[in-house]
Amino acid sequence: MLEIKNIKKSYHTGDFVQQALDNVSLKFRNHEFVAILGPSGSGKTTLLNILGGLDRYDSGDLIINGKSTKKFTDAYWDAYRNNCIGFIFQSYNLITHISVLANVEMSLTLSGISKKERRNKAIEALTKVGLKDHIHKKPNQLSGGQMQRVAIARSLVNNPDIILADEPTGALDSKTSIQIMELIKDISKEKLVIMVTHNEELAKNYASRIVNMKDGKIISDSDEVEKNAISKEYKIRKTKMSFLSALNLSFNNIKTKKGRTFLTALASSIGIIGIALILSLSNGFDIKINEFEQDSLSNMPIIIAEQGISLDEETISAMQEEISNESNYPSNEIISAYQLEETIPVHVNNITNEYYEYIKNIDERLIAGITYGYYTNLNLLVKNNNKVMPLNISNSFIPLPIKDGSYNEYLESNYDLLKGSYPTKSNEILLVVDMKNRISSNLLTSLGFEDEVSFDELLNKEIKFVFNDDYYQKIGNYFTINENLDEIYNNENNITLTISGIVRGKEDKEVLVGNTSGLSYRDDLIDEIINKNAHSEIVKAQQASDFNVLTGEKFDLSKDEDIEKKEQLLNYFGQSKTPAYFYIYPKDFASKENITSYLDEYNENKNDEDKIIYIDQSEILTTLSGSIMDAITIVLIAFSGISLVVSSIMIGIITYISVLERTKEIGILRAIGARKKDITRVFNAETFIIGLSSGLLGILIAYLLTIPVNNIIYKLTDLKGVAILNPIHALILITVSIILTLIGGAIPAKIASKKDPVEALRTE
Ligand code: ADP
Ligand code: MG
Repeated sequence: MLEIKNIKKSYHTGDFVQQALDNVSLKFRNHEFVAILGPSGSGKTTLLNILGGLDRYDSGDLIINGKSTKKFTDAYWDAYRNNCIGFIFQSYNLITHISVLANVEMSLTLSGISKKERRNKAIEALTKVGLKDHIHKKPNQLSGGQMQRVAIARSLVNNPDIILADEPTGALDSKTSIQIMELIKDISKEKLVIMVTHNEELAKNYASRIVNMKDGKIISDSDEVEKNAISKEYKIRKTKMSFLSALNLSFNNIKTKKGRTFLTALASSIGIIGIALILSLSNGFDIKINEFEQDSLSNMPIIIAEQGISLDEETISAMQEEISNESNYPSNEIISAYQLEETIPVHVNNITNEYYEYIKNIDERLIAGITYGYYTNLNLLVKNNNKVMPLNISNSFIPLPIKDGSYNEYLESNYDLLKGSYPTKSNEILLVVDMKNRISSNLLTSLGFEDEVSFDELLNKEIKFVFNDDYYQKIGNYFTINENLDEIYNNENNITLTISGIVRGKEDKEVLVGNTSGLSYRDDLIDEIINKNAHSEIVKAQQASDFNVLTGEKFDLSKDEDIEKKEQLLNYFGQSKTPAYFYIYPKDFASKENITSYLDEYNENKNDEDKIIYIDQSEILTTLSGSIMDAITIVLIAFSGISLVVSSIMIGIITYISVLERTKEIGILRAIGARKKDITRVFNAETFIIGLSSGLLGILIAYLLTIPVNNIIYKLTDLKGVAILNPIHALILITVSIILTLIGGAIPAKIASKKDPVEALRTE
């Protein structure tokens, strides 16, 4: 039972006010066929729209079942339109991009009815209007009469109590009009049908009651309802459209404009392609750099010396800071001093005998060699042109891992043996020349040669090592070097050293060893020397004295500094059997990892001052180079990110255009009960589809592009398969594409949902 009381409705256009309905009151029976007649502009459509909940009245009341609608929420109006009202329009208002069946199903879809039930009910309704054979056609494949039948089927399918028809035959020829009227009359047996028309004849022939309107007022009513009519109970079921239905609707819409959707998706996929390519390249380069580092840098020794650098975050950032410091490369002409501690935080290592044992216990299978370094002085003499003179090689020492046969694996893989052989005895030493076959001029002249020397001449050179007791002589409490060098040169206790071979860093190891030159001797030479010198007179004397036995300088042994000085002096004389530093050469990358974790283990549960921190040069290089790579990647991604944002703005514009194009559809959906939210969903579904396709397309294109990109990189650098698209990155990018397009389309979707349904229906 439907009733309107004193309804007023006016439209404002500029200053002009059009009173479309002026104090209209009407009551309707549960079953009757009411025809509303009146000239154009008399307010018929406005009345119908207010009755159908499509438009709102300014004042008065619409009473459903004796209940006022003044306090109806949007949700109630939507539900009312969906399951109490069926609309039939003059211009049919079918959604053109979906089938006849889907059009009829739509209001059931909105009320969340299962697919099977939906289908059955829609087919039943279409059968009733005689369109059983046309259900899979699109609306534009039907005649006008047939389209109006579809609209009637749609209005009936939800079994509403009220059918509102606005000039349903206005666009049809008279013969078809009669068929449609018969159909509507049939419906009115069970329902309240209110039909607007300006065809008096049709109204008289079919309607049971005729209401005449003029200028927004009712001027006559042929069969007014008595005051106390009984009302019937309505139940209003709330409506809701699932995202899947919205997706389906938008998918069908998109299918009708495949070309445009494809171009949109393609354009907006450019950002995705860019980022995907950059990620796959940096991903691939990371892998290649790691491989390279594992191959070459693992040859770099792990150094344990007086001072260590631990690669914690603080140190790494200090190193980066040091490299990219603004005050680097000053233009002034001043030289200043620096302390190592000022640049990078270093740790002072206290290498004990216990640690020496620990190092000696490293699994031999992991190492290509170890060099034990001592601060002991080598008392060396050479005879140049029959003149004996001291030779100082402490600045030329290269800590190569020379030991017996098997350990030369390291030398063989990193150095070329130019002449002679690797040392096989403790008194044989190795000469290393740099990539230009050079050694320092200091070393060359000390050995008695001017600018050049042939390999053979050098290999014949003899160097004498003199033990402390023969080298130093005691005078009173002091010691001096024996001045008779000829005599000590010829002492039979001496060790005669010879250069057994000349090596040069391999060409492909240029970065690692290309510019080193000098002498390298075996650990067992030092063992031999220290074993004897540790018990020499000078060591014993120095141990017992509080002054320097060579210079007479006093030590104040209450000072740490002087204790240190004395200790250094003793080490110089060869007191200590504990090495001062170690060079550990790993066999390969995996071994390096094992060695460093073995070294780390030593530090567990130790006080900071007792910890021994090693220097892992390869790790330092890797860390620094890795962050440079990361920085480049971030910059490139930022650029592509911009194109991604631009493309999502583009999607926003395209969605807005789509909103404009689909205004009519929005009106239709609202008329059959879609909520504002459902309209938002329809457009979100559309952007979702575009976002998904642009993401998928972008990934596909980026993947295809990696093939030629890899070919080019292979030609340029000899590196194979650098660009690899990580599947996780691909998934993330597709998600990002969807999210960005959804954001881009959100505003237009909101605009769509806010459209006035009456106006939306009026657009063509
Ligand atoms: P009918 O259906 O009887 O031809 P309508 O109900 O459509 O008449 O219109 C009644 C009056 O209200 C007309 O004068 C029309 O111009 C005016 N009107 C209807 N809708 C609007 C609107 N959205 N804005 C301004 N005026 C309107
Ligand atoms: Mg009208």
